[in-house]
Amino acid sequence: MQEKITAIRAQAVQELQEVQDLAQLDGFRVKYLGKKGLITELLRSVGQLPRGERPEIGKEVNVLQEEIEAGLQARKDALTRQALELRLAAEAIDVTLPGLPVNLGRRHPVQQVMEEIQEIFIGMGFAVAAGPEIELDYYNFTALNIPPEHPARDMQDSFYVAGADEVLLRTHTSPVQIRVMEARQGALPVRIIAPGKVYRRDDDHTHSPMFHQVEGLLVDRGVAFAHLKGTLEHFVRQMFGPDTQMRLRPSYFPFTEPSAEVDISCVACRGEGCRVCGHSGWLEILGSGMVHPRVLATVGYDPAQVSGFAFGLGVERVAMLKYGLDDLRLFFANDLRFLRQFA
Ligand SMILES: [Zn+2]
Repeated sequence: MQEKITAIRAQAVQELQEVQDLAQLDGFRVKYLGKKGLITELLRSVGQLPRGERPEIGKEVNVLQEEIEAGLQARKDALTRQALELRLAAEAIDVTLPGLPVNLGRRHPVQQVMEEIQEIFIGMGFAVAAGPEIELDYYNFTALNIPPEHPARDMQDSFYVAGADEVLLRTHTSPVQIRVMEARQGALPVRIIAPGKVYRRDDDHTHSPMFHQVEGLLVDRGVAFAHLKGTLEHFVRQMFGPDTQMRLRPSYFPFTEPSAEVDISCVACRGEGCRVCGHSGWLEILGSGMVHPRVLATVGYDPAQVSGFAFGLGVERVAMLKYGLDDLRLFFANDLRFLRQFA
């Protein structure tokens, strides 16, 4: 029995050293400590020894079992550490390698022009306001003095939300005027611009179903048409250069009275007449006018006490003139060869 213990100990020490990985280690464990393992067998045979020998031999077998368990654990720790070191070595980062190039994007030309427009009006004391793109009929039309029979409400011109006649994608940024004046509850002055996306059922080389507008609104005591003209003149000269001429043409919008279309001298020919301006020397750039008294009254301002002006311009239109483009759809085709030209 004594010899057997010594032999098994020597064998175990030898085999444990030969174990190469965790799978082999588990095989070793089963061979010695498993249900039919060598140590388990030894413990069983202790019971068959003469009564007097049992304590002595039993103790030795227990010692051997503890040695094997300790050796097994030590080997397991060593193998685990080794495996981790191998993995870390494989994943090591070579800090001397050149990095991967990062593709930096750039602002979309429409966004650039919109920000440029904003900067000019912020410089004149206007604050930037925002409103929802999914709008109620009331804010998009009714409160802006656009009666139910007005053609702008035609299903052919606007995107209505299915099953909700009163809900549509806003057709202009003008509803922001109403929302801001409502929120001010009669406080003065109201001096905002509202840049954002608008939607119409149009699609050709100068129209897109989605485009951008910047709305402007100033309401205060004593606001006159001259203030509107001066503000817009400052804007077009900042935007298109100090020599830019501007003219106003009488027009009609339901929410302004009087109303005016604003033209600037052609950016391509400087007023001489060319293909871009249809040989007129002028380019239409925005719509404007004095806020209609009915609109002021709707949102709680007394038209006898206060007055205001409003204007709205198409950002894509401005961008096309600025960059000399003839197709608005280029902005939304997402062709990088086009977009990369705008630093
Ligand atoms: Zn021209």
